[in-house]
Amino acid sequence: MPSLPWSDIDTVLLDMDGTLLDLHFDNHFWLEHLPQRYAELHGVSRAMAEMELQPLFERHAGQLQWYCLDFWSAELKLSVRDLKLETAHLIALRPDADTFLAAIKRAGKRVIMITNAHRDSLSLKLERIELAPYFERLISSHDYGFPKENPQFWDALQADIGFDPARSLFIDDTLPILRSAREFGVAHLLAVKEPDSRKGPKDTAEFAAVEDYRNLIAGL
Ligand SMILES: [Mg+2]
Repeated sequence: MPSLPWSDIDTVLLDMDGTLLDLHFDNHFWLEHLPQRYAELHGVSRAMAEMELQPLFERHAGQLQWYCLDFWSAELKLSVRDLKLETAHLIALRPDADTFLAAIKRAGKRVIMITNAHRDSLSLKLERIELAPYFERLISSHDYGFPKENPQFWDALQADIGFDPARSLFIDDTLPILRSAREFGVAHLLAVKEPDSRKGPKDTAEFAAVEDYRNLIAGL
């Protein structure tokens, strides 16, 4: 991973799930816990639950409602929030993410979270992991009505916080979102090598990736 030109960076934009928090919670929830509990609550087999859920997941991936707990609760006729609470013990920081956050805040960088997570998911996580104090703002894309994949998200973010993309760093584990940020002109972009601690390293295509947050703060 190349070292960052910190003197050229005054704003740090950070994703939450898979970037600061271990994506294992979300992957386990959507791929294991939800299908299992859906099967139990609706009295169908696990295989039938998968068959019903899979096309719905495919149809809504990458759209704002994908991240919306109200949407899924209505669609699946169960309380997604209650089911998430059942697995909340799996919510965890990625290694040294807090060290990184403390260092960039101490260095006087403007630190802003931008997440596609719904406000309900955000609060579920912030009640368990003390992230809020590191941030000037915690922005959910639901506030703007466009997910980060959409160019209009970036226009709305610019209008809201007024930042210089040429002097900004953005870290996100989702490659289409990094491409959307690059399109807007965000100069410094990093993916995440291992967003889910149980899945091993992933291919981050054309993007350099964070492997160890402690290396990123060298030269800060
Ligand atoms: Mg993410």
